[in-house]
Amino acid sequence: MKEFPTEKIRNVVLLGHGGSGKTTLAEALLHVTGAISRKGRVEDGNTVCDFTDEEKARGFSLSLALAPFEWGDHKVNLLDAPGYADFEFEALAALRVADLAIFVVSAVDGVQVQTESLWRAAEQFGTPRMVFVNKLDRERSDFAGVLDQLRDRFGAGIAPTQLPVGEEHDHRGVADLLRDRAFVYENGKPNELPIPEDLREHEEQVRESLVEGIVVADDELLERYLEGEVPDSAELEKTLARGVSAGTVFPVMCGSALLETGVDLLARAVCDLGPSPADRPPVGVRAGSEEVDVSPDPSADPLAFVFKTIVDPYVGQISVFKVLSGTIRPDTTLVVPRTGAEARIHALMTLRGKEQVTVPSIPAGDIGAAAKLQGVHTGDTLAPKGKPVSVQPIEFPEPVLTIAIRAKSQADEDKLANALARVLEADPALRMERNEETQQTLLHGMGEAHLNLAIEKLRSLGADVEVEELQIPYRETITGTAEAEGKYKKQTGGHGQFGVCYLRVEPLPRGAGFEFVDQIVGGAIPRQFIPAVQKGIEETMAEGGVFGYPVMDVRVTCFDGKYHPVDSSELSFKMAGRLGFKAALEKASPVLLEPISALEVTVPQELQGDVMGDLNARRGRVQGTELSDHGEVTIFAEVPTAELKRYATELRSITGGRGRFKARHSHYDFLPPNLVDQVRRSRPEGG
Ligand code: GDP
Repeated sequence: MKEFPTEKIRNVVLLGHGGSGKTTLAEALLHVTGAISRKGRVEDGNTVCDFTDEEKARGFSLSLALAPFEWGDHKVNLLDAPGYADFEFEALAALRVADLAIFVVSAVDGVQVQTESLWRAAEQFGTPRMVFVNKLDRERSDFAGVLDQLRDRFGAGIAPTQLPVGEEHDHRGVADLLRDRAFVYENGKPNELPIPEDLREHEEQVRESLVEGIVVADDELLERYLEGEVPDSAELEKTLARGVSAGTVFPVMCGSALLETGVDLLARAVCDLGPSPADRPPVGVRAGSEEVDVSPDPSADPLAFVFKTIVDPYVGQISVFKVLSGTIRPDTTLVVPRTGAEARIHALMTLRGKEQVTVPSIPAGDIGAAAKLQGVHTGDTLAPKGKPVSVQPIEFPEPVLTIAIRAKSQADEDKLANALARVLEADPALRMERNEETQQTLLHGMGEAHLNLAIEKLRSLGADVEVEELQIPYRETITGTAEAEGKYKKQTGGHGQFGVCYLRVEPLPRGAGFEFVDQIVGGAIPRQFIPAVQKGIEETMAEGGVFGYPVMDVRVTCFDGKYHPVDSSELSFKMAGRLGFKAALEKASPVLLEPISALEVTVPQELQGDVMGDLNARRGRVQGTELSDHGEVTIFAEVPTAELKRYATELRSITGGRGRFKARHSHYDFLPPNLVDQVRRSRPEGG
């Protein structure tokens, strides 16, 4: 692939709901522009963008894929982002580097959940946007209906620049309003024709409002238009391109990715109307406490931003980055400001799906990749040596679903640890945690599909891993006051053991923890052995009380004891403490406590009732609600953590994917008595 100047580069992300046709459209774009000679099909598992085994098996994209193609003297870096909610974080990472987002909307299904949430994200980033209404060949295709919907959801900036020539079985091509010409396809090849008679009147109408919409943005053009002059298509395009670049106008195009109608026109529009990296506002980078603007100047110091990491079973780690300024060449040495470590570029390449193509350099504005950059993570800046500036890292959403995993056998444990390290490094939305209380290794992720994929990746890296039931960290406490004797006496052979303590246990308020009170007077227990009593109690608290769970919120008073001048030792008093504490707990009306999460669920208002009803069924207590933007409501509730194990999946099914939530640990509360038997654990050995 040759080198392209910054102005001729287009970084484009395809966004949309899963199934709208992004991968097929990427394939079609590569095909019509000659980047590939044979077109793959999602169903056959041979497309450029769905190349992993997991994607081929499922038939939809699970990760961001890069697929560059050339159009005239332009290079377009196409990013195909997964449309599945679990992988929205990949789309967010792509939005950080894309200069244009093309929203693929199915002409049959219209605007869907992910279309809307990704549009809002692009809006926040200020990313220029276009829409491609796809599947015009499908039965029940309704371009006009989808257009109304787009206007309704995304406002007056929605500007159709094309109309379908025929829909459903009759779909043959598209009418280009800027050029006032029709493109009718025969075996994938376009024939440029006059607008067909039956479309004429409608086309003129839509065209007029498009032209009016464009000329108002330019005083001089407007004046000429009002005097009766119709600007030519090149002039219109130039003005339109400014609106696109500013993020105020969103051209709507259409076609069929499957039949490859309108696809060449889309490639052309990306190059003619879409901004180059140089047309975008400069990127703000942090240099110490200062903020500096960086423009894509190929002769400046090299600076790049890593937005994706791939773990390739053969090549190892591949970091995919956008060059923000300067030109990166093999042997360029950069620094990672996050760690201060140096990263030396060896193999410089560009990716086309799974294919890696070595390149001599990557100039500012372009996207490239490098293998084996040790210690470099997604979101890292690669800065010039001696100038450790950093780009704002990507804010990944908080994980919403947790599973517990373990190695199938002891022998697999090392392999699992290794594989986990590699998978975590490549997937910034995945988190691992070791819960000491439940002795489980937890994986936190964005949903079932995301976590399943992580498991598959671990297995593909040779780790024999299995998923186990997620343990809830229950606790126990007491509701009454009681006293008990702890007596440890052993007199078999030689030196004996003897220690007695008298303990009183009392409940403390939630969150108070543990208090030990020493009321020993007159040497009933020698001073030096009293800490041993406390230690015995603390060990038992951690190991588990009456129900087998850690004990919390109790005060223990040691008020009397007995000792033996020869046989007493630290060990005997520690054992006495353990025995006395257990006996006192049993008499003090012990109860189980369960963790309660503070939950915030945001859903469209019309679903508020369903979601609250469901929270009720989960023993949740709604604390309040708050109206937010776009007709949504946020519900605040306290819900037992055990009832939220699969909430990410279940909320999605209740709301058709239109709900989202955050949960964090809030406090512990009494477990209802009817659930105690389900939760009770056998006492740990040796207690
Ligand atoms: P993605 O999930 O957005 O990447 O969508 P895919 O590209 O995987 O497409 C989903 C399904 O729609 C596949 O079965 C495609 O063959 C089909 N599809 C995509 N584009 C078109 C189109 O223009 N016309 C028709 N009839 N089917 C299409």
